[in-house]
Amino acid sequence: AKMEERNTFRFYSPLMQADSRRRLRLATELRRALGADEFFMAYQPSVELKTGRIVAVEALLRWRHPERGCVMPGEFIEAAEQMGLIRRIDEWVLQAACAQIERWDRAGVPPIRVAVNLSAHGFSQEGFVDSLQRLIQRHGFDPSRLMIEITERVMLRLGEDTERAMRALHHLGVGVAIDDFGTGYSSMAYLKLPAIEYLKLDRSFVSGLPGNPDDVAIIEALLGIARALGLHTIAEGVEVEAQHQFMLRAGCEEGQGYYYAYPLDAAEIERLLCRDPGH
Ligand code: C2E
Ligand code: CA
Ligand code: CA
Ligand code: CA
Repeated sequence: AKMEERNTFRFYSPLMQADSRRRLRLATELRRALGADEFFMAYQPSVELKTGRIVAVEALLRWRHPERGCVMPGEFIEAAEQMGLIRRIDEWVLQAACAQIERWDRAGVPPIRVAVNLSAHGFSQEGFVDSLQRLIQRHGFDPSRLMIEITERVMLRLGEDTERAMRALHHLGVGVAIDDFGTGYSSMAYLKLPAIEYLKLDRSFVSGLPGNPDDVAIIEALLGIARALGLHTIAEGVEVEAQHQFMLRAGCEEGQGYYYAYPLDAAEIERLLCRDPGH
């Protein structure tokens, strides 16, 4: 076994070095990107299933890399978390989303909810909610227009700081959505926190609908939890008509996915909202 361990170590070592070099370079590039305005947001509509109206958008981060073109968050968010850069990215994202809400408002675009993804526990750090309040005030919109998406995985570690932050967010009027709901295998104690208003049912279950009986059972159970607790529901990753029909009949309220719309730029969202007859 010792032999094997040694061999394994030697075998992986050069790869690990290459990997950490790659990560260091990524960190340097991310720092530059923050300063050089290389980030931008895409916005994916969330649709009310009963009416087809766009009631919200989710802000999704994009990186316009000078050589590599458009880089998706899956390729850099985790590294940014590990390299201690996620706080600055969170700040950038919130700032960008709030500025966009103000621009849409000034252009007379019908008001919708805008959801923003935050990683890790930045939201529970001292001063976060205060600075968010100032940011919202500066852009002059009602706090209920903004929603924060936090993955269930992050909620797992429910400490006093989280509870305090959730109370403060609730007091401010900013709602929280539990992202990727159903994948965290966590205790459900956090579902009682007052700021939590939405559950986003993870795409991995929606993709199996309507054919996979396990996914059907899981989705129905998750919707049951939401209903019992009075939480709103959004299905992620709806790609085909049959999934849309299933979620509608199962009583889910909103849907997001390629079936309705891809992530779009701000101007395209504006066009969609201004011609949407529901508004
Ligand atoms: P998420 O929060 O689960 O976001 C939904 C992801 O699913 C988006 O990918 C979206 O483009 C994609 N998607 C939407 N509809 C469909 C569909 O019908 N089918 C399929 N296959 N995919 C669909 P994206 O933009 O690449 O984001 C990936 C993840 O990166 C997000 O997952 C989120 O966890 C993270 N992320 C995105 N933007 C931000 C951000 O601003 N800050 C942080 N911290 N994380 C972000
Ligand atoms: Ca999300
Ligand atoms: Ca999600
Ligand atoms: Ca997901």
